[in-house]
This record gives sequence, C-alpha cells and structure tokens, in this order.
Amino acid sequence: MTAFNGGSGRDLPAPKRLYQAIRDAPQPGRHGNEIAQRHHAGSRLTKLSTEVPTRGKRPELAAMPSDSLPPPSEREQPETVTSALTLPKSTSPEGRAKGRPSVRAGSPSRTDALTGVDPLPGHLDRWLASRGAELVGVRRHLHAHPELSGQEFETTALVARELEVAGLSPRVLPKGNGVICDIPGSGESDRVIALRADLDALPLQDIKDVPYRSTVDGACHACGHDVHTTVLLGTGLMLAQLAERGELPGRVRLLFQPSEEVIPSGAPEVIAAGGLKDVSAIFALHCAPQLPVGLLGIRSGPMTAAADMVDITLRGPGGHTARPHLTSDLVHALSRVVVDVPALLDRRVDPRAGVSMVFGAVHAGEAANAIPSVGRARATVRVLNRDAWHEVPGLISKLIDDVVTGTGAQAEVVYHRGVPPVINDRHAAAVVASAAGAALGAERVVEAEISMGGEDFAFYLEQVPGAMMRLGVGVPGAEVLGDIHQAGFDVDERAIGNGVRVMVHTALGALAAPAL
Ligand SMILES: [Zn+2]
Ligand SMILES: [Zn+2]
Repeated sequence: MTAFNGGSGRDLPAPKRLYQAIRDAPQPGRHGNEIAQRHHAGSRLTKLSTEVPTRGKRPELAAMPSDSLPPPSEREQPETVTSALTLPKSTSPEGRAKGRPSVRAGSPSRTDALTGVDPLPGHLDRWLASRGAELVGVRRHLHAHPELSGQEFETTALVARELEVAGLSPRVLPKGNGVICDIPGSGESDRVIALRADLDALPLQDIKDVPYRSTVDGACHACGHDVHTTVLLGTGLMLAQLAERGELPGRVRLLFQPSEEVIPSGAPEVIAAGGLKDVSAIFALHCAPQLPVGLLGIRSGPMTAAADMVDITLRGPGGHTARPHLTSDLVHALSRVVVDVPALLDRRVDPRAGVSMVFGAVHAGEAANAIPSVGRARATVRVLNRDAWHEVPGLISKLIDDVVTGTGAQAEVVYHRGVPPVINDRHAAAVVASAAGAALGAERVVEAEISMGGEDFAFYLEQVPGAMMRLGVGVPGAEVLGDIHQAGFDVDERAIGNGVRVMVHTALGALAAPAL
C-alpha cells in the first residue's frame, strides 16, 4: 500500500529539486563543507538530469553508460566530486574485499567478484559519484527547512517522493509524518533487515552562518537527523539499484520515523504500523561530532542510557520555623529526599547497571522563617541495564516513601517512563564492525563510548536484535568539538557518503549473517 499522495508515482509532479541551489552555495566557516561545494564545479554531477524522472527509472544513472564511469584509480583524486566521499587511501581494494561480508555465498558472480575487483565498493563509488552531491543537497535542504517533532510532513513528502522516483513503494505512517519502505530482495531469502532514521529537528534557534542555515524560526537540525534521513535515503536508493540488478539477497526495510526528540516518541508508532514485522535485525546510526569524519564507532552492549524522569511533591501543614516539632519540616524532608534517595539507590542496584539519579530542580518555600506546606523536586533517572530499568520505578518510589516516612510529610511521586537503554546485540555489533571495516577500512572503526543520553531506537531493540553506530561527523583537527543539541551544531558533510557506505554494507552483511 502506498499512502503517499494516495496513488501511483506516475501522477506525481516533477520532483522539485529545491535543494540544488543550496547545494551549490559556498559555505564559509569551520565545518569544512566547502569540500563538497568545491568539488562540484566541473564534476560529472553537473550533468545530473533535470528532466522529469519517470517512475522506476533513474535518469541520472540511466544516462550514464558504465564505460563512462571513472576507474577506481580516479576515485581518490581530489578533483573529483567524490574524493570527499571515497575510501581512505590506506585501505587497498584487496583489503576491503577480504573484510567485506560475504553476500549471496555460492553465487558464481559474487564469488568471482570477491576474488577479483570487489564490485560493491566500486559500484558504491560510482553511485556516490553520480548522486553524492545530490545527497548533500538533500541534507542542506532538510537543514534549511527543519520540522519539529510530530510535524515532519514536508520531510516525509520529500523522502517518499524520492523513493517513488526510484521505483519503490513508500508507505506513509497514519499521521502523515513518517515512512516505511521495503526494498524487496531478488534472492530466495525471506530475511528482512530494517534500517532506521529519525526525521525531527529541535526547538533551537540556528546560529550558524551558512547558506543552509535554518529558515524556520526556533527550529534547527541540531541533532543531525537531517544527516540520518539523507544517509538512509541514499542507502535506500543505492539498495534499490542493487535489487534491480538482482544483487539484493533479501528484503531491506527503511524506517523513517518521526518524533525521536520527544516523549512519547515516534518509534512505538512505527512498530505499531508494522515496521518490525518479520524483521530479523535493525540498524541505525547517529552523528557523533566527537569522532572525526571518516571514523565509525560501534560497541557491543550498552550504547545509550534509559532516560526517565521523576517528579516528587511533598506536602505538610506548614508553620513557623520556631516550632518545627508542631508541623512537618518540609524543607528538611525534601532535602533528605534529594540527598538520601540517590545514595540509597546506589546501594540497592548492581553498580554495573549504571544507574544515575540526578536532581535538576528543587523548589520549596519563600520566607526564611516560614515552613512551607508544599515542596517539589524533579530528577532524571538514567540506566544502562535493561533489567535494572524495569526495576527502578518501583524501587525509587519505595525509597522515597522510606525516606519521607517519619518526617510527617506526605509524598506524591509521579514517575515518567522515558526510553529504554540502547543495548547493541553482540552479533549485530559484529556485523556493523565488519561492514564498516569493509566500507571505510578496518583502521577507521573504533569502539564507541557509552552515552548517558537517551535514544528511542531502544524501543526497536526491545523487540528485535540490532545495533546503533556512531558516525564520525567532526572536522579532523578541529580545536573546538561541537556537540549535538548545540544551536551551532553542524557536520562535515563527507560523513554522508561514509554513512551510505556503511549502511549499505551493513544491510548486505546482516542479510548474510546466520546469527541474526
Ligand atoms: Zn537529539
Ligand atoms: Zn538524535
């Protein structure tokens, strides 16, 4: 079923490549994104067709005979547009072929390919040569037109349109802000591998001075979800082409989800819409400004923390500070909650579970000599262990009761469930490590650090195994490392091509992985 525009792609208007102008604009600043721009002039990308693409046909690719494609030796020349997106020089094609996950084992053509020139990286290079700058343009368009959580309608329309042009059948989520799109495999395998991106921006004012600065007041892609969306779109278009060539051995499902940044978040909506039906494993990536572009971080086990919130209200009769024994000393009671509950929690949960309860707000009283009748404290609770996450709400409520009992105050606790911890499956993490090694070079794959931030990709991992990876987007050698959720956040756009490489390899590796 295709919900997008309610009908067939033939009725679609000509895709407006709104982002082409912004793609070509020069970019000042420290992010190094002039690289993609610099390489655009005179490159083959200037030949990108502006005709109306017909459904199922990619004129850009169709218009390019294979013998006109550059030989692999040209891939790393700085003059070509894809030089910013190619593999590191230190990795030989032979080395990549060795490390590349086996695809369609037993197929003569693939076996031959593995012993000779590896067609996938070469094919990827060619694909990125023809579409790489266009992807940068998509990212810049999304960056300039961010949509807040729950309102990702235009972003959804853009993604769905591009997928339809590629001959796929995207299904828009019931609310109109999110896309599920299957790329049917050509092999006999009934395996389904899901790849997920998030679409939403943050309610921040973009302070960057770049041509693709946000045009929406109070909205900014400061978490890199524009990059995630672009990478998954590029991955899907590339995989669709592989499928057309009969080289996709199983089904790959693209999940473009809304509302990652808020609670309730969008992942449960995608799951409810059948996003995980028949899925063997799921993968996603997140921008990591701490990692220089070219690197890919992965780890087995905890990756991000569960993030809950607890809201505590204490009540008492109030009174004079001269006579605390006649009332309930609410400030004292609240102080004990703030100090004792996290300390007790540390002694009641396995330290390896990584539980962290930190108060961010405490409010009670006005006058120095009046005991207030109400006080409130609010904290976040972060947990790295799935079992502990299921255990802590009840435990914290009990500890608050224990601490408050005897003070005479009445406690009211509202526990807000956030997202579970992201816990990477070890087999899935191994697939990513192997795929990233094949895509970027083994020396470019590093162990990711654990973050105590929350990420709703965890909801998928509650259902199926999978892994989240960290995509290096930092400018190599930059003195100031930006962070996500900062109003000035930007990426080194070479990360987009790297992301596509890694995701394509990951999908193929996962389809071939018996452990998943
Ligand atoms: Zn975020
Ligand atoms: Zn994010």
